[in-house]
Amino acid sequence: MKQHIAVIGGGVIGLSTAFALIRAGHNVTLIEQNEDVGLGASYANGGQLSYRYVSPLADAGIPRQALGWIMKSGSPVSLRLRVDPTQWRWMLSFLAACNRSTNRKNAKILLQLGLEGQTEMATWRAEGLEGYFWRQAGKLVLYRQNKVFQKAVSTIQNPTLERALSPEDCAKIEPAFAHLAPDLAGGIFSPEDEVADSYLFCRSLKVSLLSNPQFRYLPGKAALKPETDKHCMLTVDGVGYAVDRIVLAAGLNSREIVVPLGIRLPLYGLKGYSLTLRPSPEKLPSISVTDYDNRVVYARLGDTLRVAAMVDIGAEDRSLTPTRLTSLRHLVRRTLPGLNSNNLPDFPWTGLRPATPTGVPIIGHSRYENLLFNVGHGALGFTLAAGSAARITKLIDQAHPEGIQK
Ligand SMILES: Cc1cc2nc3c(=O)[nH]c(=O)nc-3n(C[C@H](O)[C@H](O)[C@H](O)COP(=O)(O)OP(=O)(O)OC[C@H]3O[C@@H](n4cnc5c(N)ncnc54)[C@H](O)[C@@H]3O)c2cc1C
Repeated sequence: MKQHIAVIGGGVIGLSTAFALIRAGHNVTLIEQNEDVGLGASYANGGQLSYRYVSPLADAGIPRQALGWIMKSGSPVSLRLRVDPTQWRWMLSFLAACNRSTNRKNAKILLQLGLEGQTEMATWRAEGLEGYFWRQAGKLVLYRQNKVFQKAVSTIQNPTLERALSPEDCAKIEPAFAHLAPDLAGGIFSPEDEVADSYLFCRSLKVSLLSNPQFRYLPGKAALKPETDKHCMLTVDGVGYAVDRIVLAAGLNSREIVVPLGIRLPLYGLKGYSLTLRPSPEKLPSISVTDYDNRVVYARLGDTLRVAAMVDIGAEDRSLTPTRLTSLRHLVRRTLPGLNSNNLPDFPWTGLRPATPTGVPIIGHSRYENLLFNVGHGALGFTLAAGSAARITKLIDQAHPEGIQK
């Protein structure tokens, strides 16, 4: 049965949700509080559609490794402990998920969701959604430590889709990083992984949605409050708004939106940084590369190079911390010397990954019959957006009753 559905949030998750619901024939109103879509965590992210590289941050050994990182300035992870129950609750649940079996179980869930999304995105492209520098670039993950590399090799399930490479083969496949070969243990290449510009993807979705008479874009701030035990009420800028269903996809802010409903969403903002460089064309890598030890991703988007990195815990704000930016610039200069030799602007950006402790997003029904969640996509929101949108659509159409993390 076709319904009128309000989607709260115009990031990559909300827009993808709206797009999938419109394709399924529903009437959709998308509510966004910013002056335009895609300006939150989805703006200048790493651009990776890394469908096969979805292992959650929570894993065995991570707490010990993180302690080492925290002691070292310029490390991929920084931790500031605050007098903040939300941070402590999140960290305790995160630590509980830091074991091999939980990591494997959750990686499997994410892999399935990612692959569903890859198929869904391919359908959207085939139907004409374009204009966001999409490429099937392939992804190369570079490892410097042999033990870590061997562990990664042992998790390969399909050698056609994930190939273990020697340092020499890594250099051949992506010459822009060839000078690193002497320091490498090896690499894993996933030829079917993709890259695209997440902000331009959001814009393309909006343009396409606006051409559909069943879609309405409603600028404003959405809020929810209980109407009965089983129904909640939507307001936009304080005005009541009647719809059949509401999908909450407001990224990290979803946590605050559900407080009046007595719901606690286990979300925390993991701050990350990106730079967008415009090097001379011969210096641009073609393949998307992850420097595993430094946790930095490099993706060519059109004629620019997007570099994204860092996980700052206890820094839930959007300020560009000068020391972290300097560290990232040093790291990039060390990894790809001469990349920005003419000192052109590198457009620094920071965003808050809306993360659950386990890394698995919350996709499904709430205890209010008219409210569903599509939140908590953490470091993988772009990769998981289309798959999550398809899942929500199936849930609404009753074909897929379970959801994830109800
Ligand atoms: C540095 C960095 C690099 C990353 N790299 C990658 C990558 O390479 N690949 C990948 O897959 N993922 C990556 N991610 C993760 C990805 O960007 C996020 O998971 C994703 O953008 C989350 O999308 P979202 O729609 O949930 O949130 P957002 O993009 O933040 O969107 C939420 C929207 O809701 C709106 N909103 C909030 N409250 C309200 C309200 N009350 N009323 C109306 N509107 C509201 C906000 O204004 C915002 O527009 C990265 C993230 C960071 C920070």
